[in-house]
Amino acid sequence: MPIFEYRCRECGEQFECLILRSSGPPRCPVCDSRELEKLISLHVVSSDYTRKRARQSARAHASGIRREKQHEDHKELHEHLTEDH
Ligand SMILES: [Zn+2]
Repeated sequence: MPIFEYRCRECGEQFECLILRSSGPPRCPVCDSRELEKLISLHVVSSDYTRKRARQSARAHASGIRREKQHEDHKELHEHLTEDH
C-alpha cells in the first residue's frame, strides 16, 4: 500500500497519508488545507534500506564466523601434526 508523505503549505504540518484509489485527494489533518506538497516517503525508503543493510551485515557476520571456524580447525590440525612429530 502506498504511503506518501505530505507537507502542508498552509501550516507546515508534515504527515503521512495512505493513498487509496477510492479516497479523494489528501487534506491536512491540522488545518484541512489541500495545498499540500508531496514529499518523497523517506520512511519507506529508509526501512527498506535498513532491511537490506541488516541482511547484508547478517550475511557478513555469518561468513566471518565460518572463516574463523575454518581458521580454528586449521590451527588444530596443525597442532595435531606437530604433536605427532
Ligand atoms: Zn495545514
